[in-house]
Amino acid sequence: MKTLTLSEQKIADLFDNKITAAQWTNWKWQLAHSIRDIDTIEKLLNVEFSQNDREKIIKTAEKFPISVTPYYLSLIDTSDMENDPVYKQAIPSVSELITSKSEMSDPLAEDKDSPVGGITHRYPDRVLLLASNVCSMYCRHCTRKRRVGDVDYIPDKKTIERAIDYIKNTPKVRDVLLSGGDPFLLPDDYLDWILSKLDKIEHVEVVRIGTRTPVVLPYRITDELIEMLKTHQPLWINTHFNHPREITSSSRMALRKLADGGFPLGNQSVLLAGVNDCPRIMKKLMHKLVQNRVRPYYLYQCDLSEGLAHFRTPVGKGIEIVESLIGHTSGFAVPTYVIDAPGGGGKIPVMPNYLISWSTNKVVLRNYEGVITTYKEPDSYEPIFCDRNCDDCRLHLKLDDADEYKAMGIGKLLADFDKTISLTPANNERHSRRNL
Ligand SMILES: *Cc1c(COP(=O)(O)O)cnc(C)c1O
Repeated sequence: MKTLTLSEQKIADLFDNKITAAQWTNWKWQLAHSIRDIDTIEKLLNVEFSQNDREKIIKTAEKFPISVTPYYLSLIDTSDMENDPVYKQAIPSVSELITSKSEMSDPLAEDKDSPVGGITHRYPDRVLLLASNVCSMYCRHCTRKRRVGDVDYIPDKKTIERAIDYIKNTPKVRDVLLSGGDPFLLPDDYLDWILSKLDKIEHVEVVRIGTRTPVVLPYRITDELIEMLKTHQPLWINTHFNHPREITSSSRMALRKLADGGFPLGNQSVLLAGVNDCPRIMKKLMHKLVQNRVRPYYLYQCDLSEGLAHFRTPVGKGIEIVESLIGHTSGFAVPTYVIDAPGGGGKIPVMPNYLISWSTNKVVLRNYEGVITTYKEPDSYEPIFCDRNCDDCRLHLKLDDADEYKAMGIGKLLADFDKTISLTPANNERHSRRNL
C-alpha cells in the first residue's frame, strides 16, 4: 500500500475528513475532489495571494476555468511557487487574457478539417478521433483552450458510431489516434466498446491513445484498465510530461504498468517559456522518460492559440534545445521538434542544420561537436527508373511476410532426431526425369 508523501499528506489532511491512502490513490476520488477555485487552492497549499493577484486569477478563470487534481496540486513547491513548473501549468495567469493579433481560437483548423463530428482528418492515412471532452486537469497551455471547460461531456454512442463509420468507410485510414480531452477519463467499459469497434475494422492497423493521466492522475492506470487495454493490441500510448519534476513515484508506477502491459510508450512535450525552455531541464526530462521506458516522440513549438502568448518561445530556443541533445545523448532520447502549421498544414519538423554544403561529388557535414567532415558520393549509381510498372521492377516488391517454412526445412536437416538427408523443391526437373 502506498504511503503518502509529506506534501500529499499535507494536502490530504486539509480536506475536511482525513483522507486515507486508499482514497487518495483512487482516481475517482481524485476527480471528485478536483480543485476548481482559488479559495481551495489557498487553503490546500497554505498560501495567501494578494488581493490584486486573487482578482486576476478569478478574472482569468472566468474565461478559462481551473481544474486541478489534488495529486497534481500536491507537486507544487510552495517555497518558490511563482516559478514552479507545476504551478505554471495548473494555475491561471492573467497573461492568458492578453490576445495578440496573431493568435486564433482554432489555429490548427481542426474544426475545418473535420468531415464528421469528432474526427479530424488531416493526413492521408490517419485520423484524430476526439473520444472524450473531459480532462482531469485543465492545462493552462492547452492548444484546445477554446473548448476547455465548455461542457465536460462524453460524446454519446451515436456520435462515436458516426465517427467510427467514417473510419470504416475510409479504407485509407490505417492509424487512429484517440484524443480529446483525455480518452482515459472514459469509463473502462466505454473505452473498451470504442476500441472493440475499431478492432473490427480490417484496414485499421494501429490505434494510439493520447493521455495526460500518467502525469496528472497516475492512479487512473489501474490493473483493470491494463487488462482491458491488453485485449486491444497493437495499441500505442502517448503521454505528456513537460518537466522532470512531474516524474514521481506514482507516475513511475503508472508508466511501469503501461510498459509491462506491453504498450509502446511515447511522450509529447510542449516547449513552454518559464517551464522547460532550457537545455538542462529538457535533457533531464528526456533521460527520466527513457529510464521509465518512454520514448520521447515530439517536442511541440507552442501553438498560436488564444491566451498562450506568455508561454511562447522563439523557434530558436527549440533548435538550441535539440542542438544540445543530438549527439550529446542517446539517439532515442531525442524528440522530433515540430511546429504545427497554423491553418492546418500539419506538423513540420525543424532541426539544426548538419548539412553544410554539397556538390555532385561530395557532401560537407558538421557533427554535434562542430567537426566539419565530408562524405564522398558514390562514383556510380544507377537510379531505378520508376514508371509505376512494379511488375517489371527489379526491386523486391513482394512485401508480404517472408516465408519461414524454408528456414524450418533447414532446421529439419540440422536436427539430430530427423533422418531427412536433403530438401528438394517439389518441381525439381531432375527428379521428374527419374524413373521410379
Ligand atoms: C498530430 C496529428 C496526427 C498524428 O500525426 P503523427 O505525426 O503521425 O503523430 C494526426 N492527425 C492530426 C490532426 C494531428 O494533429
